[in-house]
Amino acid sequence: MRLTARLAAAALAAGVGAAHAQEAYPSRTITLVVPFSAGGATDTVARITAENMSKALGSQIVVENVTGAGGTLASARVAKSDPDGYTLLIHHIGISTAPALYRKLSFDTKTAFAPIGLVSDAPMTIIARPDFPADTLEQLVAKVKANGTKITYGNAGLGAASHLCGTLLFSTIGTQVTPVPYKGNGPVMTDLIGKQIDMTCDQTTNTTGPIQGKQVKAYAVTALKRVEQLPELPTADEAGIKGFQMSAWHGIYAPAGTPDAVVKRLSEALQTALAEPALQERFGKIITTAASKQDATPEALKAKLLSEIDRWDPVIKAAGQFAD
Ligand code: ASP
Repeated sequence: MRLTARLAAAALAAGVGAAHAQEAYPSRTITLVVPFSAGGATDTVARITAENMSKALGSQIVVENVTGAGGTLASARVAKSDPDGYTLLIHHIGISTAPALYRKLSFDTKTAFAPIGLVSDAPMTIIARPDFPADTLEQLVAKVKANGTKITYGNAGLGAASHLCGTLLFSTIGTQVTPVPYKGNGPVMTDLIGKQIDMTCDQTTNTTGPIQGKQVKAYAVTALKRVEQLPELPTADEAGIKGFQMSAWHGIYAPAGTPDAVVKRLSEALQTALAEPALQERFGKIITTAASKQDATPEALKAKLLSEIDRWDPVIKAAGQFAD
């Protein structure tokens, strides 16, 4: 029997309620499941946040990468875990697009999770291999239109932020390219720098370093305002794709049924972690905004999740891309 189970049993035997036994939470290592491979945007946000949350909780949070099917394998794994606060999920905008994209999800996204809080938000950047023969977004769009499916576009799987950004981009410019799915944007970046693929669109969390280091060509940021850390980079709107805007938000979830006291403890630890100046500095360098205290709450994440499911549903149905 595990120590916590033994303590709970002892507490019950002594006539102390389960609520008292729960006061010990957390008493062992917590696993934070990341739906994409190491070295990508979600992994980076997860590791920085986990480090600071561990301090706030006084218990270690370890990151586990469970990749595949655009992040839905990780979501399913956490949805079916024991609701005891020891298995959590960090996921981005893709959690809200999966219900429309995947015909056979084994869980109901709206009810399978106990939201803990929003974590971060980051814009995307449209980038290409370092020798791609285009220097501006206008030239890139012309090349893509002229070459169509000869252009390879790396993404982190159906429903990943990089996939959604590409879907919006190519439907806006009215062309199709060849998608190359990976298990995360860590390996997409490796292959882009290595000139194995032509282009991608990914969060600044993952792309700021390679753009600053000139390891890739950058064309635009998908925010409506330029970002301070990459002042030369135009917005997609300025560079010719009017109104094009997208950012990727992350949230942390526990399985539905997790006791309220545990959800509260985790949410408070998240708020403490995100308010740390050291975390904000690390996030700032990779153009990633930490959620405010009000947003790092179960209520704010729940509202965001439900409104994003409703926002993306018609967009995805119109694009007609589905997976089983
Ligand atoms: N955030 C990336 C994407 O959705 C995946 C990753 O973090 O590896 O494209």
